[in-house]
Amino acid sequence: MENAQSQGDSLVGDANMNAQALAIAEIWNKGVSVLRQELDPQIYTAYIKPLRFDSYDAENSEFTVAAPSRLVCNHVDRIFKDKISALLCSELGLSELKLKFSVGTEEAARSTPVVVKKLKVRAKPAVVEEAEAAPPLSSQLISKYTFDNFVVGNSNQFCHAAAMRVADRPGLSYNPLFIYGGVGLGKTHLLHAIGNAVLEKNPKRRVLYLSSEAFTNELILSLRHGKMDEFKNRLRSIEVLLIDDIQFMCGKERTQEEFFHTFNALYSAKHQIVITSDKIPQEIPGMEERLQTRFSWGLTADLQAPDFETRVAILKRKASLEDFALPEDVAHLISEKVSSNVRELEGALTRLHAVSSIQNVDITMELARSALKPILQPKTVNVSVDDIKKVVATHFSIKTSEMVSKRRTKNLSFPRHIAMYLCRKHTTASYPEIGNQFGGRDHSSVIHAANVVTSKLTCDDKVRGIVTEIEKRLLGH
Ligand code: ADP
Ligand code: MG
Repeated sequence: MENAQSQGDSLVGDANMNAQALAIAEIWNKGVSVLRQELDPQIYTAYIKPLRFDSYDAENSEFTVAAPSRLVCNHVDRIFKDKISALLCSELGLSELKLKFSVGTEEAARSTPVVVKKLKVRAKPAVVEEAEAAPPLSSQLISKYTFDNFVVGNSNQFCHAAAMRVADRPGLSYNPLFIYGGVGLGKTHLLHAIGNAVLEKNPKRRVLYLSSEAFTNELILSLRHGKMDEFKNRLRSIEVLLIDDIQFMCGKERTQEEFFHTFNALYSAKHQIVITSDKIPQEIPGMEERLQTRFSWGLTADLQAPDFETRVAILKRKASLEDFALPEDVAHLISEKVSSNVRELEGALTRLHAVSSIQNVDITMELARSALKPILQPKTVNVSVDDIKKVVATHFSIKTSEMVSKRRTKNLSFPRHIAMYLCRKHTTASYPEIGNQFGGRDHSSVIHAANVVTSKLTCDDKVRGIVTEIEKRLLGH
């Protein structure tokens, strides 16, 4: 956990901003490496490799990527936009994002001659044609999430076996399969793995992955444009429907109503439904009882936090997939210190890999200790979103319920912004998860709040004092 008090005052804002920039650059690099593994090497070299991360406007969820030429730009926009957006959304924890391409930044321009040459000389038209003709990614699946890449241990064995079974005989074994578990334990990974395995066996199967927010968004759009029949027909023709994070449907009555009908239609047609959640069906607040009942009709399987050996195995698997050497003692060090979830484990490894490649040195214990200092420092306190709400509300002498209410008066919105910023900084909750815990707000409100506070920290002594004071109380030192 980062300790803002120990840093020089004027450095707090810079450090936050640099950390953000580094994090976004890492996310971009991760996306690129997924594409490198998936694409034909010539296509990758011609179109993806020359792209550069340009900027990220968190407030508007706008991610801009620089391309070296109009040609590359147009091609990428046409062929890879959905894929890149899906990868970035998954990494940023967003349900949607605006992906833009700009042409000819300085850095990208430097690689232009090489790319143009490669395009003309090496990229065989036939290969490019093939990529162009590939069907659009209508299943919304991310192909890197496979059963092959999923490391099995005691904590996830049961869930993994159930998922494999469902993928093998969709609609015939456990219907629905309801997977639940804490943040970063592999729910989304397993969901995509089921879809990918079904399609690998039979590419014609109608498989669809949807986060519950995407479901709601599609519903709203269909209602607005008078296309409900299309929406219903499309969903009801799906043979394997994979719904992620169903808990985000809580309190959304129209969404639940529509999902109820979709569920019934698919279930009676013996089509497979797989659902994930952070809680068991009966404990999802604001979820209609008739849906809770239906979720329990099939099999409910839970994912636990991985044990030490599984954590080591996951790190080794990730390193070998990304093709870099990870010494045994470093894998042990990270696994000892990062035990809560796989996403954090991966984050530590990605950071270490990024530092080693930027500095152009091998990964050693010494490098790991310095690069992962903030992570490896013993975490004395485990802070939850609820802890943050309570401490912030107490500090401002307001009620927690007022802070999460819809009211926007300044005496409530300022504490709310600070609380959201602290949730992002001190917990592993994603933007949508935080928004949900603050009265069902949209992820963009949380991003906005975090940005407002981050920028005030750089220039407003009073705000910095307040945040430091609250963090002191929160972290107990
Ligand atoms: P959740 O949806 O439960 O929050 P994710 O499925 O997004 O978690 O997992 C977080 C990250 O951890 C993903 O990158 C995923 O690939 C990885 N991960 C989780 N469990 C495993 C596992 N058993 N083996 C390999 N990678 C895993
Ligand atoms: Mg998930």
